[in-house]
Formats: sequence, structure tokens, C-alpha cells
Amino acid sequence: MRRRDWLLTSAVLPAAAPVAARAAQAGPKNIVISSANGTKACAKAMDVLKAGGDTLEAVVQGVTLVEDDPNDTSVGYGGLPNEEGIVELDASVMHGPTRRAGSVASVRNIKNVARLAKLVMEQTDHVMIVGEGATRFARAWGIPEINLLTERSRMAWMAWKQSLRDGEGNNNWTDGLDAPTPTAKQAAALRQIWPEASDEMIAWAFEVAHFPTTGTINCLALNAKGEMSGTTTTSGMAWKIPGRVGDSPIIGAGVYVDQEVGAAGSTGRGEENIRVAGAHSIVENMRHGMDPKDACLDVLKRIARNYNNDAAKLAKFDINFYALRKDGVHAGASLWSGRVLRGYMSGFQYSVNDGTGDSRLEKCVWLLERKA
Ligand code: ASP
Repeated sequence: MRRRDWLLTSAVLPAAAPVAARAAQAGPKNIVISSANGTKACAKAMDVLKAGGDTLEAVVQGVTLVEDDPNDTSVGYGGLPNEEGIVELDASVMHGPTRRAGSVASVRNIKNVARLAKLVMEQTDHVMIVGEGATRFARAWGIPEINLLTERSRMAWMAWKQSLRDGEGNNNWTDGLDAPTPTAKQAAALRQIWPEASDEMIAWAFEVAHFPTTGTINCLALNAKGEMSGTTTTSGMAWKIPGRVGDSPIIGAGVYVDQEVGAAGSTGRGEENIRVAGAHSIVENMRHGMDPKDACLDVLKRIARNYNNDAAKLAKFDINFYALRKDGVHAGASLWSGRVLRGYMSGFQYSVNDGTGDSRLEKCVWLLERKA
């Protein structure tokens, strides 16, 4: 349905009636969806749902696996740091049954920030706590503090620092004028510090230094009782200015849940999502009768409109949305059909676990086609 048609139709239909009718036919069921990096998270969340656990507890336990994983450099422990080499994490949660929300942003030294956001929701009269206050709040609850920067992420950060040059090609973070052998190549410089690093690891460090991949995990759950929750957790944009907060901890942008309608979340360039209140807009689109796919595509169109559909500007970033309706229908949607990674084009996917077996990856629909 075109947006114009939808506007005309929605004017004459009672709000939410189409969704309610469809849900009555299909009936709720256990289902978990997430960004593509969440196959294990979805499986874990499904285990919790099957054991009768709460939907928010399910998604938080799921994403905790990803926060704990040092090899996921966009979330939790091992996330790519800010421009000063310090990892700062953002996270949010929303609990459908109680309509409550919690979030934390710019948190240092605490690994499981989705759990911390849940604690803000459950144990304070606030919704959002940021920065030093969030770390102190965690400390008060006895949550251990750790250095979140792994050697892998530190290597990528150093590769980034070494790649910054002024107009003359100079950089204080590479060898100086007085070096006996001028201009040790950047990879060689990294090898001095990480002699054991494989060629592949060094190549990865330079790739993310120049083209930091977006990541983050958003995870949404529905149970057989019709209850829904969601969470989003991230280390945010690599090399960000300290204190920069993305969309992930913003309720209504990184995540939104209204279990009378559905849930939505996002990964990718948060600045674009904040400007369209993406997750909330998607849920409102579903409330007015759009299916999850069209609800996401409509919001991607708003992002494109914010750049007057200038493809050259839009090509500079990726953004993905995920939507789960109260009847279990779901979608993932990307601004672009794919991205070029290590020389080949890969399409965007999202993870689904419906309780019948392993999590599977499904293709995202997309708004714009990227030519290789
Ligand atoms: N959405 C995250 C942010 O802007 C980044 C990401 O998904 O990679 O902080």
C-alpha cells in the first residue's frame, strides 16, 4: 500500500482494528527476533520463554550472551571504543505487560548494560541514567566493574589513530622525523605491539578503522500469552566523541513496545533513527494497520526524505529496523539492499526463533538497491 493510500484508508478505519482482527485469527505464540548477530540470543530467549519466563527476562538473558562475547565488537565487552580508546555502552529495555521502560547511556566499565537498564526500570523512579551516574548506580548494586577494551578492539583503535593525517600527511601517532627507518608502515607498527597478530587480524583492524561496521543487538519477544518486550544494547559508533549517545538507549528510537500492537527496534546509524523516532513510528504505523514490513519501509522513507532522497549522502550509512507484531508476524528492513564487505556484497538479514528449532536468518526487505 502506498503511503498516500494508507493515509486515506487510516482516516476511515477505527484505530488498531485491523491489527486486533488479525491477532484474533492467528493468536499469539512464542517468537523471538533480533538483529543478525543474535542467533544465539534468540535461542536463549526462546528457552526462557518455553520455561515460562517473562518476555523481558528472556530478551535480556539473550543479549547478555552477545554483551559477554569479546568477538562481537559492536556490543558490550570488546566493543569498539570512543576516540579516546574508552568503551562506552548504551542500552534500553521496554516491558510490555507493565508498560515500563529503563535505559542507560555512556556507561563505562559495566559489561551487561541491558541488565543494568532493566535494573533502572525496576529499582528506580527514573527511566534513564547516564555516564558516571550509571556506573555509580551499578556500583551501588554491587555490579563488578571491568575494563571493557579487549586487545582486539584496542588494535583497531590504534589502526584508526595511525590513519588520521593532517593535510601534509603527518600524524603524531606514527614514527617521527628522527626515526632511523623512516615511515614504518602502519601494519608493521601494529606488529611491534602485537607480534602474534595474524595478517587477517591486522587487515580487520584497518578495515574497521576506516569503515567501522555498525552492529548493536536489538531483540524482541512475544509469548503465547500475548506479552511482549524488547531490548537494544550497543557500544555505539566506533571512534565517537566521548559522551556521544546513539539511538539504542532512546526509548522510541532504539526500541519501543506496546504489546497491544507490537514491538520494534533498530541497529545502524543512530543519528538517523533518533530524528525519525524510528521504533515508535513503526509501532504507530502498525497500530494504524500497516504490516511490519511496510511499517519499517515507511520509516526508512522518512530517513531518505531527511536527505531529500540524495542517494550519494544516503550511501554513507546503513540502518536497519526490526518489527514484531502482536500476532507474531515480523519483518526486518534495511535502508540498502546490502553492503560491500571484504570485496563482496552481502545483504542484510535478521534472526528469528519461533521455538520449532534453531534460530534462522531471514532476509531483510530494503528501500534502496546498492550496486556493487
Ligand atoms: N545504533 C547504534 C548507535 O548509533 C550503532 C549501531 O547499531 O552500530 O549507537
